[in-house]
Amino acid sequence: MKVKSAVLQTIGAQSPYKESMPLLIQELELDPPGHEEILVEIKAAGLCHSDLSVINGSRPRPTPMALGHEAAGIVVKTGEGITDLQVGDHVVCIFVPACGHCPPCQEGRPALCEEGARVNQDGTLLSGERRLHHDQDYIYHHLGVSAFSTFAVTSRHSLVKIDPTIPFEIAALFGCAVMTGVGAVINTAHIKMGNSVAIVGLGGVGLSALIGAVAAGANDIIAVDINPDKLAFAKELGATHVFNSNDSDAVTQIKKVTGGGVEYAFETGGAVPAMQVAYNITRRGGTTLQPDSHIRNIYSRFRR
Ligand SMILES: [Zn+2]
Ligand SMILES: [Zn+2]
Repeated sequence: MKVKSAVLQTIGAQSPYKESMPLLIQELELDPPGHEEILVEIKAAGLCHSDLSVINGSRPRPTPMALGHEAAGIVVKTGEGITDLQVGDHVVCIFVPACGHCPPCQEGRPALCEEGARVNQDGTLLSGERRLHHDQDYIYHHLGVSAFSTFAVTSRHSLVKIDPTIPFEIAALFGCAVMTGVGAVINTAHIKMGNSVAIVGLGGVGLSALIGAVAAGANDIIAVDINPDKLAFAKELGATHVFNSNDSDAVTQIKKVTGGGVEYAFETGGAVPAMQVAYNITRRGGTTLQPDSHIRNIYSRFRR
């Protein structure tokens, strides 16, 4: 079938992108779903920083690649071997297809799937196949999804069925920002009631981590950013204290209000200065965490 997709032609284009135009909207041919694959009509997709990281080359991927991975849509057709999804089901796309057989999958940590990481690096679906092409040339898939497209074929293992009453534009965020931020707090750090937590960097992942800390019952919840509007929003979402890291005494102030630093500091800005702040406000014996969702899907931990 014919689909319309946003395709990255080459990595490393100069910004501003409205002049260099690294993405072309192209009409592509999308093959039918293969074994354990699904055809999804994409209804909403978010622009994640990881899309930008492929465009600017900080996360190199093969090109031409149809970008987009934070998305939600409707099942249009199921390939052979699909027994648990039906046409019309609403689904969220996730950025690591889990094979179910490798050691991390067997340990119950599908986000670390080795096969999923390998095929994401290669720009294919979990099957190793590419289902998009332009004339005779195959197009690579971004993180097994390629959601900046009217339709996508993905592995069954790249989809989670959701309640159809959830609006698509909200559901899409659960495919990346919410999963990464809340997952860091709940599943990786195992934040418990009463813990002291700091979130450094209030993008989609950081704000999701903040919501996760509130849900987990953390006591002190420190939000740090350089943007006053984001700090105000963090207060609305439940941060107990907010600090602008451009203030030269921010670290001192945070240590003061937390009695020596927080037990868990999450660096969600992806920047070296943010990492330094996160480490410096971690108390002795505490843990600094950095979600690294799209490269190897690990959370680096540093203990002070
Ligand atoms: Zn993402
Ligand atoms: Zn696996």
